Amino acid sequence: MKYRNSLILLGLLALPVSLAAQTPAMSADAAAAEIDRDAIEGPVRFLADDLLEGRGPASRGDELTQLYLSTTLEMLGYEPGGEKGSYLQTFDIVGIDSKPPQTWDFTKGGQKVSLKNFDQFIAASGVQKDRSVIQNAELVFVGYGIQAPEFQWDDYKGMDLKGKVLVMLNNDPEGDPKLFEGNRRLYYGRWTYKYESAARQGAAGAIIVHTTPSAGYAWQVVQTSWTGEQFELPAENEPRIQVSAWTTEEAARQIAKLSGHDLDALIKQAQSRDFKPVPLGVTTSLTLENKISRKKTANVGGLLRGSDPKLKEEVVVYSAHHDHLGIGEPDKEGDKIYNGALDNAAGTAQVLAIAKAFAALPEPPKRSILILFVAAEEQGLLGSEYYSKHPTFPAGRIAANINYDGGNIFGPSAEVAFIGMGKSSLDQVVKTLAAKQSRQVVGDQFPDKGFFYRSDQFNFARIGVPAIYLDTSTKLKGKPEEYGKEKIEAWEAAHYHQPSDELTPDWNYDGMIDDARLGFYAGLQIANTDQLPAWNPGDEFEAARKQAIQQAGK
Ligand SMILES: [Zn+2]
Repeated sequence: MKYRNSLILLGLLALPVSLAAQTPAMSADAAAAEIDRDAIEGPVRFLADDLLEGRGPASRGDELTQLYLSTTLEMLGYEPGGEKGSYLQTFDIVGIDSKPPQTWDFTKGGQKVSLKNFDQFIAASGVQKDRSVIQNAELVFVGYGIQAPEFQWDDYKGMDLKGKVLVMLNNDPEGDPKLFEGNRRLYYGRWTYKYESAARQGAAGAIIVHTTPSAGYAWQVVQTSWTGEQFELPAENEPRIQVSAWTTEEAARQIAKLSGHDLDALIKQAQSRDFKPVPLGVTTSLTLENKISRKKTANVGGLLRGSDPKLKEEVVVYSAHHDHLGIGEPDKEGDKIYNGALDNAAGTAQVLAIAKAFAALPEPPKRSILILFVAAEEQGLLGSEYYSKHPTFPAGRIAANINYDGGNIFGPSAEVAFIGMGKSSLDQVVKTLAAKQSRQVVGDQFPDKGFFYRSDQFNFARIGVPAIYLDTSTKLKGKPEEYGKEKIEAWEAAHYHQPSDELTPDWNYDGMIDDARLGFYAGLQIANTDQLPAWNPGDEFEAARKQAIQQAGK
């Protein structure tokens, strides 16, 4: 604020020109200067405070977060951008708290393997009912559980899997670089796909074998993400399995051995297109007692109406999820509050700073700007899923989504990582603007982790909206190549989804300031360009876009 006023003041002193004589570029730069350290650090300090109790969905911390974000948007001059004249878009979530037994038994002949809850397996309910039941079901190893006609791949080969428990590998086959885009993780490699795929087969349950490389994260992340109350959007008519489970690799080895197989040999078979499901001859039963609750949470939206009479009916949506994991299992220090400072107070703060910059423009851009803080991301992108099913603008009128999840706390970067690069005309927008910051744009630096499908831009892409997700680059200014990568990986190993994801004095804001300014300029340009952004021909989301634009009557 100070910087901008003093610039204007200098202009007035030096030249007898009015404020209106500022060129659009000058006013955009002055607005971008609103994005500074204070604009980001302040909101992070509030949202990541212990008083917010980790912002778990439908908690007091969640409500405080909604109130803080909506009143801040109001203060910045944004109109209510939720539903029914409110800043909130409230929706139901179904909480399922499953109590698995302490042990889960697998038997063959007279022999038995007993797995320990939490240490060796995690089991969550696949149904929104008081009980999930697997009764004497046979285990079948189904490789990756993938059916992908475009790669002529079908792990099921027409086998009847009704009532079975499917043992599946995470990720997708790695061997052939032409298959499943090499080591880039597609949707087929995500756990959501795995359980949906098992449900389509009529299976009773599915067990994903966890390995750190195939999941992209350690077993402790599975533990913390899958225990305690889990939330979903209310069930509709989609097929569902009774139990969604994970086991450790070591536990899967025991089960394989019990069945007379070797896990490594099974994994090897699964790399081939000729793979057929392997009945393991092992049976199991499992009952989960579930406590079902229905609660409400809300996306928070603020709208800045566009200045063009026609284009204001279209919108650029900025998003960041405002929730985190709440209160959960204590860590070694006894800390139970999962503050989510980086994940995602940092992203929320960057989007708030961008909102402040747009509010500082002398005139809004041609298209409208929606600042959207989505809820319940950590539970499986629920807030953005709800928004994508109930968008406040028709999907075909959403020009683009710019999403922030996390932020660069390690220092200014020579590059910016653009998750989703190579997919749409937005590449050019980001590259041109990053060049003005003397920065290079690189694609996903951890392509094996499938980040494009792991945050809220994915739900926008599913309804056809081209998306930008800016992420921390590994190449930090003035540091050797490996430094950034090591920093990011060390942070992930120690703090990702842990109570220790807290605001600490060593945070460096320069990278986030650059990334937020870049996103601001990108959205401004998209909002002022007559042509709508488009997916590259043949992209997996191109068909959805065409349909959405047709429906919006463009
Ligand atoms: Zn997260």
